[in-house]
Amino acid sequence: MSVSVFDLFKIGIGPSSSHTVGPMIAARQFTCQLQATVGLAAVHRLTVELFGSLSATGVGHGTDRAVLLGLAGHEPDRIDPEQIAPAIADIRTRRSLALMGEHTVPFIEKDHLLFRRKSLPLHPNGLCFRAYNARGDEIAMREYYSVGGGFVMDAAGERVLNPPASAGPDAAGHGRGLPHAFRTGAELLAQCQATHMTIAQLMVANEQHWRSAPEVHRQLMAIWQTMAGAVQRGCASAGNLPGPMQVRRRAAELHRALSRSPEAALRDPLLMLDWVNLYAMAVNEENAAGGRVVTAPTNGAAGVIPAVLHYYVNFVQGANQPSEDGIATFLLTAGAIGIIYKENASFSGAEVGCQGEVGVACSMAAGALAAVMGGTPEQIENAAEIGMEHNLGMTCDPVGGLVQIPCIERNAMGAIKAINAARLALRGDGQHVVSLDKVIQTMMQTGADMKSKYKETSRGGLAVNVVEC
Ligand code: SF4
Repeated sequence: MSVSVFDLFKIGIGPSSSHTVGPMIAARQFTCQLQATVGLAAVHRLTVELFGSLSATGVGHGTDRAVLLGLAGHEPDRIDPEQIAPAIADIRTRRSLALMGEHTVPFIEKDHLLFRRKSLPLHPNGLCFRAYNARGDEIAMREYYSVGGGFVMDAAGERVLNPPASAGPDAAGHGRGLPHAFRTGAELLAQCQATHMTIAQLMVANEQHWRSAPEVHRQLMAIWQTMAGAVQRGCASAGNLPGPMQVRRRAAELHRALSRSPEAALRDPLLMLDWVNLYAMAVNEENAAGGRVVTAPTNGAAGVIPAVLHYYVNFVQGANQPSEDGIATFLLTAGAIGIIYKENASFSGAEVGCQGEVGVACSMAAGALAAVMGGTPEQIENAAEIGMEHNLGMTCDPVGGLVQIPCIERNAMGAIKAINAARLALRGDGQHVVSLDKVIQTMMQTGADMKSKYKETSRGGLAVNVVEC
């Protein structure tokens, strides 16, 4: 499987790419298949089982609501976040839902949406859908795996695409015949050396396998605009986040404080860190509230890349004259690094802990920042490596099963770390001992050794030491 930059950066909804976006895609895919095979009219009843981490933290991560919305035909990139609460309330009140908005079946969550503690064999995030006819016979059954970052696989290991988003000459997404295919950091560097292209130029050439160069640019700007919109909404939204902990949103207050006294920057050169923290927290508060964000490469880690990109636009480039080319270079370079992780490791907190979410986002952002600050491919690879090396072993232990604590602050920390990783790399010549490929391999091995209680189950770490109110 080859991966496009737009597979990594997907416009979706919070709070989780693996527990919200992926299950919504899987549920919609099952319904599309029912429509194409037995026909929706043949369906009298259906059940959905959530396994492993989807069961353990699914309610806090919105998996239950995502499944209902997917069965009703909604897509994560198109649904209006404002419409989610009324749509769910309607299904719960009527105790039924309309498959693809067309054929109504009874759906009572305690009977039809079942939480299973065990895991399915292929991944901790498994789902099983079954449909029955009027006689009670099972007429369809499918298993899916939400493997992180909104990627969904079926039981045969084939990737499930969100149908309208896959439009293009390579709808299956295999991407065979890319002009500059690479799976590892070493291959990426070799391609750059052989072609004398930058990583971003190489990525544009590969992306044209799926879409034209102007379309690549247009979609990159749409990703940037969505990231900027999430920062703006986060900075304007006060109050508490959903859930029993009633976690207070902090970005709006911080934004007011920073905007009130720009002269403080003259006294405190590190005030820039407050702004980076603000950008990251604004996005992740928006994500935790179920708002519109870009999966980058996951929703739990959705704040790191926008925060570092805002730092670049506002503090390096100059906010008055943002260069679209600079933004495109940033996103394409981040995407190239993300592809190497996707090909060799995992974005799934349920599989490798938070090193696979915030750690990968930090690595992608570090390399991207090094690129737009003039780094060579070797310095970019070094920055990406540093960004992961110092996140190795980071567990996933969300308190209350919600993507709030430690996730929101963790994105701020990841963004700051990414900026420092880029600066460390840019002070060197690109030569270094630990390669990006080695650190990715180490991350994957560390994730495999990690106990499951530290992998998005909320059965260890902060999740058991902090009392949920
Ligand atoms: S702790 Fe990290 S991996 Fe776990 S839910 Fe939060 S952001 Fe995702």
